[in-house]
Amino acid sequence: MSTTSTLSVLIHDQDLSEQLRFIAEKVSNQERITFDEGVYLYEHGELGYLGALANYIREQKHGDKTYFNKNFHLEPTNLCVYDCKFCSYSRLIKQKEEGWALTLQEMLDVVKKYDDEPVTEVHIVGGVLPQYDVAFYSALFTAIKHHRPNLHVKALTPVEYHYIFKKAKIDYATGMKLMKDAGLESIPGGGAEIFHPEVRDIIAKDKCTGEQWLQIHEEWHKLGMRSNATMLYGHIEKYAHRIDHMEQLRQLQDRTGGFQTFIPLKFRNQHNQMENVPEVSVIEDLRNYAISRIYLDNFDHIKAYWAMISRQTAQLSLNFGVDDIDGTLDDTTKIYSMAGAEEQHPAMSTKELVNLIKQVKRKPIERDTLYNVVTDFTDVVFEEDVKPQFYKLPVIN
Ligand code: SF4
Repeated sequence: MSTTSTLSVLIHDQDLSEQLRFIAEKVSNQERITFDEGVYLYEHGELGYLGALANYIREQKHGDKTYFNKNFHLEPTNLCVYDCKFCSYSRLIKQKEEGWALTLQEMLDVVKKYDDEPVTEVHIVGGVLPQYDVAFYSALFTAIKHHRPNLHVKALTPVEYHYIFKKAKIDYATGMKLMKDAGLESIPGGGAEIFHPEVRDIIAKDKCTGEQWLQIHEEWHKLGMRSNATMLYGHIEKYAHRIDHMEQLRQLQDRTGGFQTFIPLKFRNQHNQMENVPEVSVIEDLRNYAISRIYLDNFDHIKAYWAMISRQTAQLSLNFGVDDIDGTLDDTTKIYSMAGAEEQHPAMSTKELVNLIKQVKRKPIERDTLYNVVTDFTDVVFEEDVKPQFYKLPVIN
């Protein structure tokens, strides 16, 4: 059954509540759902229903295309002046012996390790340290662009930017312009967590507020640049907090159009101060992807991090609104494994990722950071995958 027919069945399904039928009709008419309808979906939408709506939107926007990019992570430090309760990655400065803090030269050495690799992006993110200031990061971005001009620099979050601009006594607009001039090309989605202060003040006190996070992205978008957004879900937040988070992103996106991708991040409960908070189920992960896809009608892409949620859930997510899987990580990030993700050594070859996407009948498209197509792998057959064509079982008589 096509996604359009499925939706039409839902619109007329008398077993569904009037509100769920109404929301299905809205989605079919490409109308935006309200805050209350978003919360209602979390409270009453069953997996099959949500998947049907989200998949309809996904296929309207992208058909079967499923994007991925080839990047590597550069993590300057895991030491941090902040103490977010959910963070399994950082060590406070007083626990210095358990951490690392790379020098500028060491960071460039990491970049140079990939000189012969067909990667299109370096993703730079880590803890917040006083010695990494505006001058330091400007020098880093400039040096990377000087060394490899076509490598896209996607770096830092408003958490770092707020900290270094405040220290330098410059406003966000001035600071982001300086970063752009130094070689920064886009901002990843991290540091968003949950914007609402009822939650943020408990799990991520002291670092930039939700409002400041949004302001920094807005200044970046005003420069004509692109960024992503995340949401850390499945801990102490309520459904209304998730919708509030998405509502604020949707409003900013209406103003600027600068966001490319929304990335729901699952809270993992190992090696952090929230070990007593249970993790949500795979079903809730999929419901959350689906509702994100439905609510954020002005975002082009919804992304799943396979290293965080497992390869199988990432495959499933492609039927629940996700159209982008990140990425061929090559074991360069410790953020997920330190939080207790299934993948302790997250590396996947292009062939593995392409096959993972093809197994669920989607079309794998390698993209660059800005979603320009690098290679369409739909009809690419990897040599070692070609099966013997004339193999026959031996016939005895
Ligand atoms: S989440 Fe980021 S800002 Fe918070 S403690 Fe961890 S590294 Fe530091």
